[in-house]
Amino acid sequence: MLLSHTDTVVADAAEWQVDPWSGELRDDEIWGRGALDMKGQVAASAVALATLAREGFEPAGDLVFTAVADEEVGEGFGLPWLCAEHPDAVRTDYALNEGAGERIELLGRPFYLCSSAEKMSSPFQLRVHGRAGHASMPGIADNALVKAVPLIEKLAGYRPELQLGPETSALVEAIAGRPLEAAEALELAREVDPSAAELLEPLLSLTLSPTMISASERRNVIPHLCEVVVDCRLLPGQAQAEVEPLLREVLGEGDYDFEWIEGRGGTRSTIESPLWDAVASFVAETEPDAALLPVSVAGFTDSHWLREAFGTVAYGFFPMRAMDPQLAARLIHSADERIAVDDLELAVRCFRHAAVEVTGSR
Ligand SMILES: [Zn+2]
Repeated sequence: MLLSHTDTVVADAAEWQVDPWSGELRDDEIWGRGALDMKGQVAASAVALATLAREGFEPAGDLVFTAVADEEVGEGFGLPWLCAEHPDAVRTDYALNEGAGERIELLGRPFYLCSSAEKMSSPFQLRVHGRAGHASMPGIADNALVKAVPLIEKLAGYRPELQLGPETSALVEAIAGRPLEAAEALELAREVDPSAAELLEPLLSLTLSPTMISASERRNVIPHLCEVVVDCRLLPGQAQAEVEPLLREVLGEGDYDFEWIEGRGGTRSTIESPLWDAVASFVAETEPDAALLPVSVAGFTDSHWLREAFGTVAYGFFPMRAMDPQLAARLIHSADERIAVDDLELAVRCFRHAAVEVTGSR
């Protein structure tokens, strides 16, 4: 399956140099909301399969083009609905989706990243309890907002244990040339390139970012309740049940309730597969010195629905070498999103290659 989503996040035209809905071609780049996330991949996937069909290519198995809605919001109208209501239409052994594909250079060698695992989006809420009162007499109340502060500081100061999973071990070994411990690997990444360390660090542990807080709705009322929402991402395979006692220990005793808001994603696929080999051989053909590296991504994509429903081996790969990956990362969900035409062409070649390699012979 070549999987993609057609919905995008909103765009505020006032922030853009061009009309965000124009798809304008300027300096060999196509500008517009969704160019990178991910109408570029929708288009490249469609062109790859359409050209193969026109040439009379007959796959040994099914080749499925799937472009879904509702990935960005996730209210159950997109791929989860298809998996539940039309499983026969979307059940495949292998799938290529969004998630990675950037070309990076480390120690003078080019690498292309392919995501084979995703962290779990696992936000939680703290409800900190106090006692309301008039703000002019703080002594009569017990201010829940003030009581939330030390809890937030404990979460912000927490340094979880670093650990390597199968993807991060393979990533580190390919770069360093030998296996390393997680802490050693991070140290080395910092020496080699600070941006490599920024990329690696969230892949070595769960992350915690307190992002939302609400308390009194009136300036002169001391709140009896303060709610803090913490964006939390678990490592692939890590379970909420194993992490919760750790977090409770970090927070310590107190007048609060801890509650998970959701747990989505967190799945992985093996890198021992014909699809991995197909992507790797595309990379080798495109750039003989380059190697393909597995990564787990900090966000999550629709791949997890396929992995959970059918055990599909799903990877995130859209090869990108014309545009600087740091620029691309900044443009996604932001103003002036655009994609290089050369990268679109590269992706068409990649998806054609993968489709032929995986389904060309049984
Ligand atoms: Zn996307």
